[in-house]
Amino acid sequence: MTEPRPISPSPPTVLPEQADPFTTVIGLEVHAQLTTRSKMFCGCATTFGARPNSQTCPVCQGMPGTLPVINRRAIEFGVRSALAFNLRINPSCRFARKHYYYPDMPKNFQISQYEEPLAEDGWLEIDLPDGTTRRIGIQRLHLEEDVGKLVHEGTLETAQASLVDFNRAGVPLMETVSRPDLHSPEEAAAYLRAFRAVLVYLGVCDGNMEEGSLRCDANISLRRREATQLGTKVEIKNLNSFRNVQRALAFEVKRQAAALEAGETIVQETRLWDADRGYTRSMRSKEYAHDYRYFPEPDLVPLVLDGAFVEGIRRELPELPRARRQRFVERYGLPAYDATLLTQSRALADYFEAAVREAPNAKAVANWIMSDLLRVLPADDETAVAGSRIPPAHLGALVRLIDEGVISGKIAKTVFETMWKEGADPRRIVEREGLTQVADADALGLLVDQVIAANPRAVDDFKKGKTVAVKALVGAVMKATQGKANPELANRLLQEKLSNS
Ligand SMILES: [Zn+2]
Repeated sequence: MTEPRPISPSPPTVLPEQADPFTTVIGLEVHAQLTTRSKMFCGCATTFGARPNSQTCPVCQGMPGTLPVINRRAIEFGVRSALAFNLRINPSCRFARKHYYYPDMPKNFQISQYEEPLAEDGWLEIDLPDGTTRRIGIQRLHLEEDVGKLVHEGTLETAQASLVDFNRAGVPLMETVSRPDLHSPEEAAAYLRAFRAVLVYLGVCDGNMEEGSLRCDANISLRRREATQLGTKVEIKNLNSFRNVQRALAFEVKRQAAALEAGETIVQETRLWDADRGYTRSMRSKEYAHDYRYFPEPDLVPLVLDGAFVEGIRRELPELPRARRQRFVERYGLPAYDATLLTQSRALADYFEAAVREAPNAKAVANWIMSDLLRVLPADDETAVAGSRIPPAHLGALVRLIDEGVISGKIAKTVFETMWKEGADPRRIVEREGLTQVADADALGLLVDQVIAANPRAVDDFKKGKTVAVKALVGAVMKATQGKANPELANRLLQEKLSNS
C-alpha cells in the first residue's frame, strides 16, 4: 500500500524545460458488465467461470424465431448509474442492431443502443494528484449485450484452433463514453478509478478488471497548442488495468508526438496495447458508425421510462465515494488523505465504520487499517476485505485495548500479527498470553526501584543534569517487563523517584 506522501521540506526544484508543443486529448469508453443474475435479453445465468457454453439458450445463441425480452434489473442498474453520473435520462430510448461478422456473436449483430441511448450529458468529478478537482464530461450511457469469448489454443498468432464460449454472449453491458476532457495518462487513470468506485458503490458492477467485468478503450489525439481543431484520434483497445491505461496512453503520447514532430500524418485506426512488450500496435483501420449498418431493433418496442420509476431509483441512491469522503473528514475528523484512501473502496470504508463503532478513536483505527491491515491484505477490494481474517470488530477492540491502557502500542503490533494468524479476538490473545501491560503504579514502582539500584551510572548521569539518561532507565524497565510496562507511567515514576532520592 502506498505510504502517505511525505511533506517535502522545501519546494522541488523545477528545471527549466522546453514547453510541450502538444496538448493531449483523451476520452475513455468504459464497458461495465452489470451484476444482474440473468442476461440482458434472456433468462440465462451470468455466473463468471462456469463451464463453457453451459449458460446459453436459443435466444443468446441467436436461433431463428426467438425473441429478446429486456431485463428490468439491467434497466434499473443503468438508470442508477446514469443518475450517479448526473446524466439526463431520456424519457424514451430504443435498442438498435449493430451488425458485424465475428465468430463470437452467433447472431452476427449485437443488440445495442445508437441514436436513442438511455441517458446523455453528465459528468464525474475526479481528484488529481496535485489536490485539485476536475469535472469530466460524460457524453452518453447506453445498454447492450456482451459478446461471446474466443479461446485460442496457445497464442493468437500460432493457434491451430480457436474455441468459442457463449456464456458471456448476452451478459448486460453498460457503455459510458466520456467527453475528450482528459489531458494526460494520469488523469485518464484517475477518471477510471473514480468511475469504478462509483459503480462498485452503486452495486451495479463488481469492477473486476482482471475478469473483464470492467473494460476500457481509450481515444487519444494530440494537437499543437495553438491549434483549435482536434488532432486525428487513435483508439486503443485491451486496457485491462489502471496501470495499463496509464502505460498505453503514455506510450501513445510519445509515439504520436514523435510522428507529428517528424511531419508524419496520424492515421485514424484501432491499436492494440501489448502489455508484455509495452507498446501499441495497429490492429485495424478505425470503423465508422456506418460500417455497422445500425437500425432500430425490430423485435423490441421503444423503452419508455416512467418518471416515478426513475424517481424511485433516485431516492434509493446510496452515498457515493466523494460524499462519503467528505463525511469521513467532517464526522471523524480524518485528514483528507486518510479519507480518500479509505473511501476508494466501498468495502474498506464499510470496514472502517464498523471498526469505529467498536473504538471511537477514528484516527487510530484509520492508521491501523492503512499501515497494518492493508499491509497484510492482498488488495483493498471487496473480496480481499471480506476475506480478512481480522474482522472490523476485532481491530476496533485492539485499538480500544491501547486507548484504555491495557496494552502498549508496541505489544499491540505483536497482538495484531497473532490476530491475523489465528483470526482470534485480541482480548483473548492478551489474556491468554499475559500481555496486559504493567499499568499498576505500585507493581511498577517496585520494579523501578530495582532498575534504579541496578543502574548506578545512569542514575549518576541523571543527577549530573543529563536528563536523557532517564531514557536508558525507561528502556531497562521495558526490558524487565518484556515490553509490557506502560512507558509513560514508567517514565513518570522514574522521574519522581530520581528527583526525590
Ligand atoms: Zn440465453
